[in-house]
Amino acid sequence: MELLKERIQRDGKIKEGNVLKVDSFLNHQMDVRLFHEIGKEFKRRFEGEKINKILTIEASGIGIACVAAEVFGVPVVFAKKTQTKNIAGDVYTTKVESFTHGRVYDIIVAKEFLGEGDSVLIIDDFLANGKALEGLSRLVKLSGAELAGAGVVIEKGFQTGGDLIRSRGIHLESLAIVESMDEKTGEIVFREQS
Ligand code: 5GP
Repeated sequence: MELLKERIQRDGKIKEGNVLKVDSFLNHQMDVRLFHEIGKEFKRRFEGEKINKILTIEASGIGIACVAAEVFGVPVVFAKKTQTKNIAGDVYTTKVESFTHGRVYDIIVAKEFLGEGDSVLIIDDFLANGKALEGLSRLVKLSGAELAGAGVVIEKGFQTGGDLIRSRGIHLESLAIVESMDEKTGEIVFREQS
């Protein structure tokens, strides 16, 4: 998605530890017009898939998922991160290791919002080592819903998540794949996509 790649080139900041900061349009201040283009691109890429629900994870996936959901005409459910020990029985839960915070979270979704008969598209902002997407797809499986696919805005192609998710046979669409990024020069190279 050229518009997105141009924006990453222009405004993305490379931080130590392979972190790409896109706070000016995606993760802090949000460019909702760009989100709308992102939503339309997801819709185009998942054309023909039966999708009746979008699933994301708090916090940074929510804005993108909401705008995409409007384009798809379906509701959004977001998995909540919790450190509560006593999780009630009316939720699906699994553990996720956070790339940016280096911690393990329990993520939960209430059973009433996900279940058999649902066909789910997972959406998130970044794909790094694939832990967030893996956790969300586990929740989908636990619920008995179908996983239609996963859409991420930015995949860091030099990390393992993309290969992991694709090797599971999940239909993954990444709108921009960063092949390499150099903290010293600020250079960002994208993978060619058809
Ligand atoms: P994963 O679970 O694939 O290792 O990491 C994905 C999650 O970590 C995303 O939900 C995202 O919030 C966060 N993340 C991973 N890498 C980056 C990055 O380079 N920049 C930002 N802003 N978030 C990232």
